Amino acid sequence: MSSIVIVGAQWGDEGKGKITNGLASNANMVVRFQGGSNAGHTVDVNGEPVVFHLLPSGISVQGVLCVIGPGVVVDPLGLVEEIDGVRSRGIEVGENFLIDVGAHMVMPYHRAVEAAEEESRGGSAIGTTRKGIGPAYSDRYSREGLPIGMLASFGEFEERLRAIAARKNEILTRLHGAEPLDIDAIVDDMRRAADRLVPHLADTPDLVREAVASGSNVIFEGAQGTLLDISFGTYPYVTSSHTSAAGVAPGTGVPPSMVGEVLGVAKAYITRVGAGPFPTELPDGEGETIRDRGQEYGATTGRPRRCGWLDIVALRYAIGVSGMDRLIITKLDVLDAFETIPICVRYRIDGVETDRFPRSAVELSRAEPVYEEMPGWQADTTAARRHDDLPPEAMAYLRRIEELTGVPVAAASVGAAAHAVVQFAEIL
Ligand code: GDP
Repeated sequence: MSSIVIVGAQWGDEGKGKITNGLASNANMVVRFQGGSNAGHTVDVNGEPVVFHLLPSGISVQGVLCVIGPGVVVDPLGLVEEIDGVRSRGIEVGENFLIDVGAHMVMPYHRAVEAAEEESRGGSAIGTTRKGIGPAYSDRYSREGLPIGMLASFGEFEERLRAIAARKNEILTRLHGAEPLDIDAIVDDMRRAADRLVPHLADTPDLVREAVASGSNVIFEGAQGTLLDISFGTYPYVTSSHTSAAGVAPGTGVPPSMVGEVLGVAKAYITRVGAGPFPTELPDGEGETIRDRGQEYGATTGRPRRCGWLDIVALRYAIGVSGMDRLIITKLDVLDAFETIPICVRYRIDGVETDRFPRSAVELSRAEPVYEEMPGWQADTTAARRHDDLPPEAMAYLRRIEELTGVPVAAASVGAAAHAVVQFAEIL
């Protein structure tokens, strides 16, 4: 069996898309297991950046079967638009792309309800992408969701959609004082989306299990990051799905016993989008330098990302939750400019030093970072392809991450380009 899981080891945006895309050339299948179009994976395809929101990051690699698993929530209209955009870049989306019938759909009313709820939260908004992801997952759990397989029986789907949409209009108008949505227009849009998406629908768990069992190389692609996991992140500043490696089983139908190595992707520093506690945040100065050098703006929303030094306490926690066997450190080149590079090795909470990552957002917001300083290398690493191309200080930084986490670093990424990687060991 040869399957690997690629998950974010921080608060998302770690560069998982680039890593997945790079490894996909050795894979037979790439399976997305959670999240929705709130994800934005920027991948270098023939020198051009292409952003995938729902399509698995292996879609540009020929001969790889890409699957959206049952744990994902799919915005049908957004997906059709994404397919068209990707095709216009010369990327094939045909028989190489399957959507599991059990993935639930994000409907226009999910986006409308989410926007109204975020508005009403005022200063305590979660800072969601307003793509309707949370409400779509909520409906799934409250048995008011619409699995995408229903598009194949449009009559039954339309009946259920109309009933649910009428209830959502009540919520929008009565509770939020918002305009009702035009249900006929939603039905028409969905009919058009169904024409395009039904050919890609499939019952995928058996297929993926068989691929893993027969020794095919299968990549399970995560979105967001382990620290945003609905169960293990700092609730409520989390996303609505299981972003940790544990999400693979319910998100694909492949049992935990069949899941192979877990690779955690972490930046050489850390970022966060949206609200929530962030102990190593650098509000200005160095934080701005990181943001500029790393182009830290959301791929889905364009929002500036909050930036800070690498947080080992949070990273160790994420490694534990996702069972990460090895790490891939991305964006090492972003740190090329710094004379010294602090690493947060412990927190101080209420005057007491600890290496425990608090589960509670309230407690985490009281955590102050305790830093250890590493010498910077102040040299351009973007052309490095072998470990001896990296400055000794950069290697020392990576080694220190290994020592502090107890987990080996399999590769370091030194630029957005697909080939800008220094690989230390074989991965797939
Ligand atoms: P993902 O959602 O985890 O795939 O991450 P995003 O795509 O949201 O953000 C990663 C961004 O960093 C993308 O724009 C990538 O092109 C870029 N990127 C990835 N790896 C590197 C790297 O090693 N160095 C630099 N400078 N940029 C990188």
